[in-house]
Amino acid sequence: MSKIKIAELFYSIQGEGRYMGVPSVFLRTFGCNFKCAGFGMPRGELSTEVDDIAEVVHMFNKYEDLPLVSTGCDSYASWHPDFKSLSPMLTSDAIADRIAEIIPHGEWRDEHLVITGGEPLLGWQRAYPDLLNHPKMQGLKEITFETNGTQKLTPEFASYLHTWKSHHDKDFWREITFSVSAKLPCSGEKWEDAIKPEIVCEYEDYGTVYLKFVIATEQDFDDAMIATRQFRDAGFTGHVYLMPVGGVESVYALNNKKVALMAMKEGLRYSDRLQIPLFRNAWGT
Ligand code: SF4
Repeated sequence: MSKIKIAELFYSIQGEGRYMGVPSVFLRTFGCNFKCAGFGMPRGELSTEVDDIAEVVHMFNKYEDLPLVSTGCDSYASWHPDFKSLSPMLTSDAIADRIAEIIPHGEWRDEHLVITGGEPLLGWQRAYPDLLNHPKMQGLKEITFETNGTQKLTPEFASYLHTWKSHHDKDFWREITFSVSAKLPCSGEKWEDAIKPEIVCEYEDYGTVYLKFVIATEQDFDDAMIATRQFRDAGFTGHVYLMPVGGVESVYALNNKKVALMAMKEGLRYSDRLQIPLFRNAWGT
């Protein structure tokens, strides 16, 4: 039976993107190919906030106790090796059982599954079919992969996804979404590593795909427009969302309206981050 290293598994409301406001189970896998230490920092500088927390990792026994950060990646414990011990390796059975415990009626109804990270399309692609075919997952109809858009689908996983897309029996059919948060230079990652239009265009063969850019400044907005052109030139047809930066309320509140106005000006979609005003972005929300 397949196993997945799970950083977090919780029930909440989706705060971002296409499914904003929808009751959702979040399966946060461990591991990422990026660090995104540039978020919240002056351009060209990298945050050490996450490494500073890692130095005192022995003080924390569970995710809920971990501090929030105002710079760098706000889900740092889902990939930083020093926090690995907080993330158990769980079988598909254990994950499906846990989900049945946390959803309101003990079975899937109108809830949506978010497979997030970290970067959920790293090696775990091999384990998803086993989990998603599990008898306790059969009522699940909508799934979003929250990805940074740099990982190709393996031929095996692509072919598995294709069976859903091509199926005409509504009891079997599932709606697949790829929410692609492509990383701009404000993340601290290099453009050529982070902007991968040819990979993202391939996702469109298997589900609905949209881009979601995290914006703090006019420079980020300009970068998002350049990146959007690259994606469009490669054939990308999906929607584009602008979303305010902010792992903590004070940072988010400074620029949410500004980003909404930028999105309106360009005729793009605005994504809020409802988890910040509702839950202060606490772990497990
Ligand atoms: S890609 Fe996402 S999870 Fe990975 S480091 Fe960047 S913000 Fe964090």
